[in-house]
Amino acid sequence: MKSFLLACACLLLCAYYSVAQQGCVAREYQQQEFSRDPSLKYQFESAELFTKKVLSRDESMVTYGVSPGGLTIIKIPVVVHILYRTSDENISDEQVRSQIEVLNKEFRKIHADTSKIPVSFRSLAADCYLEFVLASVNPRGYATNGIVRKKTNAYSFGIEDNIKFSQSGGDDAWDSDKYLNIWVANLSAGIIGYSSVLGGPKEKDGIVVKVSAFGSTGKITMPYTKGRTAVHEIGHWLGLRHIWGDQYCGSDGVEDTPTQGIATRGCPSGIVTSCNNDSSGNMYNNYMDLTNDECTNMFTIGQRDKMRAAFAAEGPRHALLFSNGATGIPLPEPP
Ligand code: ZN
Ligand code: CA
Repeated sequence: MKSFLLACACLLLCAYYSVAQQGCVAREYQQQEFSRDPSLKYQFESAELFTKKVLSRDESMVTYGVSPGGLTIIKIPVVVHILYRTSDENISDEQVRSQIEVLNKEFRKIHADTSKIPVSFRSLAADCYLEFVLASVNPRGYATNGIVRKKTNAYSFGIEDNIKFSQSGGDDAWDSDKYLNIWVANLSAGIIGYSSVLGGPKEKDGIVVKVSAFGSTGKITMPYTKGRTAVHEIGHWLGLRHIWGDQYCGSDGVEDTPTQGIATRGCPSGIVTSCNNDSSGNMYNNYMDLTNDECTNMFTIGQRDKMRAAFAAEGPRHALLFSNGATGIPLPEPP
């Protein structure tokens, strides 16, 4: 009887958590991919190890602009694949551009909410020197505005990745050595976004964001109105983990983010401590927590360095430094 009651309690709790834990499902996606292809786990861990090695080698930090003394702006060409079933889902260019603008403000720490960064964390908040620009040259060499629109019969997409393949109602990725692929559509209940696994297959590389959480204007719904879902997912795309390390008091592999117990939901205020972290408490205003858009406002210097290390020579994002996706001269259109 006792074990039966325990099982019931667990069922209820598990049901509660699966409903409550709406938002980013990058971790669930990662687990799915690791079980589909066990070698991916090795690839991912190698990518993490690589960034660690880069950060311990001063010389290459300087060479590739990873060190604070030698930061260079890295510009990342972006393609946005919009999959729409209804006209509402076929969002405007303006909404797409609002998302790019958000990225450029958040990753450069010039957004309006920098004033809300808690005083105790201000010295850790980083300008990541990362910028994003819609592609102007497509993979075949022709001119593009960096936005692909495609009608689909799919009511919604989930982490099975149908969204990333034309043959399953989605749209094929552009070469991930040259572009950051962002897929935007209606997603299955509870999913706001997810990122591919660093070191994973190129045809799945990029981030997926729910259409109603994309950008800062247009068809967006509370509490995802400041475009920070994409900021969070790009953090994953460049190798960052959730700030609570995806387990109770887990590690995100970044030294200057405080250890914290679990994900933050909603929009707390004041100091919230956990895991015996210091007097500043949890950094729930970090983009890699799950706090509402309106209450996140920073990456740390440690997170910045980890993201930028992915661009070092032989790193998983190194090829993007040489992309002509946003700087090349398009071929003349065929007659
Ligand atoms: Zn996440
Ligand atoms: Ca940490």
